[in-house]
Amino acid sequence: MSEFIPPAKPIIGDEEREAVDRVMRSGMIAQGPEVAAFEQEFAEHFGLGRACVAVNSGTSGLHLGLLSSGVKAGGEVIVPSFTFAATANSVALTGATPVFADIDPVTFCLDPASVEASITDKTVGIMPVHLYGHPANMPALQEIADRHGLRLFEDAAQAHGASLNGTPVGAFGDFAMFSLYPTKNMTSGEGGMVSVANAEIERTMRLYRNQGMERQYENEVVGFNNRMTDIHAAIGRVQLTKVGDWTAKRQSNAAFLTENLAGVQAPRVSEGAVHVYHQYTVRVPEDRDGLAAALKSEYNIGSGMFYPIPNHELAPFQVDVELPETAAAARECLSLPVHPSVDQAGLERIVEAVNTLAKAGA
Ligand SMILES: *Cc1c(COP(=O)(O)O)cnc(C)c1O
Repeated sequence: MSEFIPPAKPIIGDEEREAVDRVMRSGMIAQGPEVAAFEQEFAEHFGLGRACVAVNSGTSGLHLGLLSSGVKAGGEVIVPSFTFAATANSVALTGATPVFADIDPVTFCLDPASVEASITDKTVGIMPVHLYGHPANMPALQEIADRHGLRLFEDAAQAHGASLNGTPVGAFGDFAMFSLYPTKNMTSGEGGMVSVANAEIERTMRLYRNQGMERQYENEVVGFNNRMTDIHAAIGRVQLTKVGDWTAKRQSNAAFLTENLAGVQAPRVSEGAVHVYHQYTVRVPEDRDGLAAALKSEYNIGSGMFYPIPNHELAPFQVDVELPETAAAARECLSLPVHPSVDQAGLERIVEAVNTLAKAGA
């Protein structure tokens, strides 16, 4: 059988290994100059025009971003249910309540109309997810936030380099978090990078990251140890020099798949949007699970279901709310390999497999 095509694959080269070795030899391995340089280079690379704060995971980044924006017990933050659980977890960890809204069936991102219908007198913020690397409808969400006096945040975990009408994701909300987990579009091993809209959120994030201290032993608030190490930052700095090429490869892989796939609904891109294809996600209206199983057993092709159980049905959340587009997406979505290591032969195998199986109604 042909070689397995994995659904995701981090790319680690000699440059990353050398960077780690350089930090190890320096003897200074905790948060230091590499982290400071990574923060600056990340903001510059993605044209964010604002400061960035590095932390030890994307989830920590969401948590500290929310805390630093004043989200706390008693408040509600509107989030999608169709996302990775870290989105709602981070809201719950502040003591606030995640309120689940439905998604737009085309972009898989928060539907502004559903968001507006979910607003209560406890709502303090809206946190869309740029799911699969496609930007959420930020102008519509900003307009709703402004009209109701709410804050707007961004879960950009999957969307490094995505943009809408020329504005990069990460430059819209009070804060935006980019995950650096190995399966994301770039990695630092584990880590998160948070872009911040103003100096106050930045300073508070830095306090929370480091036990509440700006100056050693002069603690100002109860804080965490969510620091990134210089080892991880050194990996991330190298990855920054490569992520542009990887994104271009993801986009050209996606273009080939969209051109050639039949029998499934290919992902669509909104007007003015740049999609960075963290995932290439199709809809399979009939028997998605059967197609995924046959791709693996008959063609040795991996795929992913992101996400089969909506967050509002998960044990920690369990709320009784009707989200029909979320339910349909959870049932139908299948992500095919699109990452930069998929070569032309791999793309052709994926097309042949999907088209054959979809035609046979597998
Ligand atoms: C990966 C991810 C996170 C969490 O990031 P970690 O770095 O794994 O903590 C949050 N939200 C979404 C949408 C993600 O995909």
